[in-house]
Amino acid sequence: MKTTLEETLRGAIRTIPDYPKPGILFRDITTLLGDARAFRRAVDELVHPYAGTKVDKVAGIEARGFILGGAIAHQLSSGFIPIRKKGKLPHDTVRVAYSLEYGIDEMEMHRDAVKPGERVILVDDLIATGGTAEGAAKLLRQMGADIVAACFVIDLPDLGGRAKLEALDVPVRTLVAYEGH
Ligand code: AMP
Repeated sequence: MKTTLEETLRGAIRTIPDYPKPGILFRDITTLLGDARAFRRAVDELVHPYAGTKVDKVAGIEARGFILGGAIAHQLSSGFIPIRKKGKLPHDTVRVAYSLEYGIDEMEMHRDAVKPGERVILVDDLIATGGTAEGAAKLLRQMGADIVAACFVIDLPDLGGRAKLEALDVPVRTLVAYEGH
């Protein structure tokens, strides 16, 4: 029997309770990445609306966004931009602070990674509060990028990340939603 996309993804994503701390349900995509069919399906579905359109660059958020973003960039024949935790990139960077559940952190990208007007898709595995993706979107816009969309395999809608990005006029694409956090 043919499985729906949602069944395939839910079946391939592993949930680990109380990781990294009590009360968190960690949605682990390593099992999805290790499942050839599920990995391909997730990438195909994320890419689908943009196939045949001009996308200059895909920006992936460290670290799981690199794996999905690299595959998406290949499929769209786009370049790839790594958005990294501070101190990891060797050349001249732009930096932004973003909020985590407790406190703030900073992320960076190379100043010359994107040119003004380039069409960019932002990618990560999961959107929760949206703080991480919002920071990445700000960095890209600061350098003049035209953000076509932000794509995630997993949405945790109760945490409001999608709404936060949409309020910044960033279209959001997600494939499967989980209640709670
Ligand atoms: P946020 O900035 O709150 O949207 O958090 C998104 C980032 O934290 C992404 O890079 C996710 O990989 C990670 N993350 C947040 N919550 C979870 C969760 N429940 N399971 C797995 N990863 C998570």
